[in-house]
Amino acid sequence: GSSHSALNFGAGPAKLPREVLAEVQTELLSYQDSGMSLMEMSHRGKEYTKINNDAQKAIRELLNVPDNYKVLFMQGGGTGAFAAVALNLMNRTGVADYAVTGTWSSKAAKEAAKYGKVNLVFPKADKPGSIPPESSWTLNPDASYVYYCDNETVDGVEFPFIPTSPHGVPIVSDMSSSIMTKKIDISKFGCIVAGAQKNIGPAGVTVVIIREDLLGNPMKICPTVFDFTVISQQNSVHNTPATFSVYVMEKVLQWIKKNGGLQAMENQSQDKSKLLYEEMENSNNFYSCPIDENCRSRINVPFRVGGPQGNEELEAKFLEEAEKLKMFQLKGHRLVGGIRASLYNAVTRDEVALLVKFMKEFRAQFS
Ligand code: PLP
Repeated sequence: GSSHSALNFGAGPAKLPREVLAEVQTELLSYQDSGMSLMEMSHRGKEYTKINNDAQKAIRELLNVPDNYKVLFMQGGGTGAFAAVALNLMNRTGVADYAVTGTWSSKAAKEAAKYGKVNLVFPKADKPGSIPPESSWTLNPDASYVYYCDNETVDGVEFPFIPTSPHGVPIVSDMSSSIMTKKIDISKFGCIVAGAQKNIGPAGVTVVIIREDLLGNPMKICPTVFDFTVISQQNSVHNTPATFSVYVMEKVLQWIKKNGGLQAMENQSQDKSKLLYEEMENSNNFYSCPIDENCRSRINVPFRVGGPQGNEELEAKFLEEAEKLKMFQLKGHRLVGGIRASLYNAVTRDEVALLVKFMKEFRAQFS
């Protein structure tokens, strides 16, 4: 047995800071001595109103969100946001540009195609793992927006740049797995969407950051709960929000602030992922990452064991031995196989160092 507690490398829902969960625990039965749980309180009462406003404020502070952007809390997850983006933003021209770099942007493009014309800005690769240089993209001047997924959680592909449109078309990004892991310049975006359940909270709330001038033009068929304009006008309480999820998220945001903000999160994620990529580098292909070096994710690190194609028996053994050491949720996504270590903000450097130590020992035994 090992002396450490469970190490959670899951892709999402993912590890949350223990301090935050402990605080939730102390308040669970009686929020601020009210004798009621926060989850039992009205979303229009003073307690939740403060949480809603504080969470928005924390996001604005952490990401330095300019005044001409709104911060919204919605439901429907990342998948709901795939539809919501098209329903709210595609009406201007009926066409949108999509950069498909992996599983989630592919799903987003398919969803958007239900509501309008989707143009792929480069041919979809058979096997994701690279991002074609921006100079080779076919960007449509008539597109309502250009869409990309900043970090492909399944594939382990992260954008090393923010795309721009020579035509001034707004940039839309899915940042579900990378939000709050690095500093970003919000003014370069028309809209950012992110499910909370990886870096900033429990499942149930989706954060939308949207430039004000893009509001006000949803498709007629847009469901009210997905209507950015309505949700914005009603300060994210048009209908009952995921109050408990927003409450926990607000605490995670304060935890990020307390722990050095986005610069610290960025440094830490660089550092953590480097430990893993270095071990792969040193392993003589015993561990190998199928992703081009310039777009390897700092957040979700996929790799094969026993050669570049992976040896499924060794990979099963790897997972089994890892679990004996209480290292959990390392199995790669069912679509890509292999191993995937997710290194969200709550995963510490020490935890990653323990994983790398195990990888070295496993390699010594089986290579
Ligand atoms: N986008 C990204 C980048 C994701 O990682 C995920 C989920 O893992 C999704 C979208 C889909 O989110 P949801 O499961 O909340 O619909």
